[in-house]
Amino acid sequence: MRASQFFIATQKEAPSDAELISHQLMVRAGLIKKLGSGLYSWMPLGLRVLRKVEHIVRDEMNKAGALELLMPAVQPKELWEETGRWAVFGPQMLKIQDRHARDFCFGPTHEEVITDIARKEINSYKQLPLNFYQIQTKFRDEIRPRFGVMRAREFLMKDAYSFHTSADCLVNTYQAMHTAYSNIFTRLGLKFRAVKADSGAIGGDGSQEFHVLADSGEDALAYCEQSDYAANVELAEAVASGQRAAASEAMREVDTPKQTACEAVAGLLELPVSRTVKSVALMVDEVFTLALLRGDHQLNEVKFGKLAGVTTFRLATEEEIRAHLNCPPGFIGPVGVSDKVRVIADRTVALMSDFVCGANKPKFHLAGVNFGRDLPEPVVVADIRNVVAGDMSPDGKGQLSLCRGIEVGHIFQLRTKYSEAMQATYLDENGQTQVMEMGCYGIGVSRIVGAAIEQGNDDKGIVFPLSMAPFAVVICPIGLDKSDAVKQAAFTLYTALQQAGVDVLLDDRGERPGVMFAESDLMGIPHRIVIGDRGLAQGEVEYKGRTDAEAQNLQVTECVAFLR
Ligand code: ATP
Ligand code: MG
Ligand code: MG
Ligand code: MG
Repeated sequence: MRASQFFIATQKEAPSDAELISHQLMVRAGLIKKLGSGLYSWMPLGLRVLRKVEHIVRDEMNKAGALELLMPAVQPKELWEETGRWAVFGPQMLKIQDRHARDFCFGPTHEEVITDIARKEINSYKQLPLNFYQIQTKFRDEIRPRFGVMRAREFLMKDAYSFHTSADCLVNTYQAMHTAYSNIFTRLGLKFRAVKADSGAIGGDGSQEFHVLADSGEDALAYCEQSDYAANVELAEAVASGQRAAASEAMREVDTPKQTACEAVAGLLELPVSRTVKSVALMVDEVFTLALLRGDHQLNEVKFGKLAGVTTFRLATEEEIRAHLNCPPGFIGPVGVSDKVRVIADRTVALMSDFVCGANKPKFHLAGVNFGRDLPEPVVVADIRNVVAGDMSPDGKGQLSLCRGIEVGHIFQLRTKYSEAMQATYLDENGQTQVMEMGCYGIGVSRIVGAAIEQGNDDKGIVFPLSMAPFAVVICPIGLDKSDAVKQAAFTLYTALQQAGVDVLLDDRGERPGVMFAESDLMGIPHRIVIGDRGLAQGEVEYKGRTDAEAQNLQVTECVAFLR
């Protein structure tokens, strides 16, 4: 590309709303232009970067056997009503109407649409497993759009959805996606870490996030150098209590409409349905264990208000509890999230202990049973953000270290949550109808660009990894208009690099060296060749890597081999 025919739109000042260095630099380098809150145009320079990320993502997804498709961004309300998420998704969902006053949303995610495809198109076990993906624009009406493209409202996501005949098969694909994601972030040249994520309603090892490591990241991660243990701190703290994991495991069998609990909690605490609230919902599930064991599993009938007043447990009679005491002991102390929840949690534990054991005097056939020995000790974790560096890792293999990360990917074993709600079934070998197992796998394609710049920058501007730089090499000719030798050498090298498949920018605008250098450094171009009369007289040009302290001389003849 010749700079004179390209659109370079760098600017001196960063906008006042740009808190993070990546946001400042993306605007200053002219990668993006703001249209409105959380809405950005990708300018030609920025789009080159985005496309390179997309290319690597697509390539690794294809290699992992996933099949690309493209679903509509606009989705009918009726689909979302089938899973109950029209009501649950909350204000993050942008709802729209067509001319017939029919309701739609601009898709924040695509589980419903893909499940609709699966139930219509997949009939037989012979067609499975399948893993579909798309790279597509999503809209989420984020409460606080910020950090430029990192928390935008309209953004580009790669989302994949897999379908299986068994949980084992799902786990295989989940692991293949884990590998593909590791390959993607390695190829992109990013420092990243995969961590256990709060898997909300599902529990266990069913969900992992991939984080680009950066001090400015919104998430706190805990990891252990001595083992491969790593978790989002929300989960780390919960698991640090040990028993909660066991309880979640046990709870997995209990069929609760968790989304409803989540909503109820959110409503009562006047919180948006967020990850934080998902943790509370888990707590509620655990607290609700006994209540649920009434047998009707109608959590949506048990309003959180009752839980707060702890009248809920009176709904279960001694008889009913006794009838269910063989069920997994999913009763442990809840994880406090805020003071408000904490109070509720403490009271709940106290009340449940009292209710089940009669203040340490066990009732029912619980005679002789005591907490700690027969049932997990009720534990109240003070605050989920309380993990400190040096705490023992839950696997007991070493101490925890803490760091911060930017979530760029999230993989999830959905199991049958959507396929059941939407009746996505197939016929097995015996002609029996079975519900499909599902997984889903997201990558924030546009967020990656911001995250990479958070990791790669200096006082001159962006330091892109080669894999996603808008151009690999910039040629800066000095005195292009005055010297035929410079002009000829510059164009010859430009052509030779192009033929060698190198992504090269020739700065033929006739700008001063200072301007050319400042702009190419700001844009994060990894390699720079300066061509001037003095060097050419020796058959040399000057080379400088973006982060090199000093330039070095190169023979003109070795340039292509050096840069290829
Ligand atoms: P976050 O916790 O940052 O809000 P999320 O957990 O809501 O993200 P997912 O539903 O897991 O996001 O979506 C998959 C990926 O999409 C995320 O891992 C992230 O990289 C990206 N993503 C989510 N929200 C945004 C956003 N507002 N802007 C840009 N990328 C986003
Ligand atoms: Mg989110
Ligand atoms: Mg998240
Ligand atoms: Mg996520």
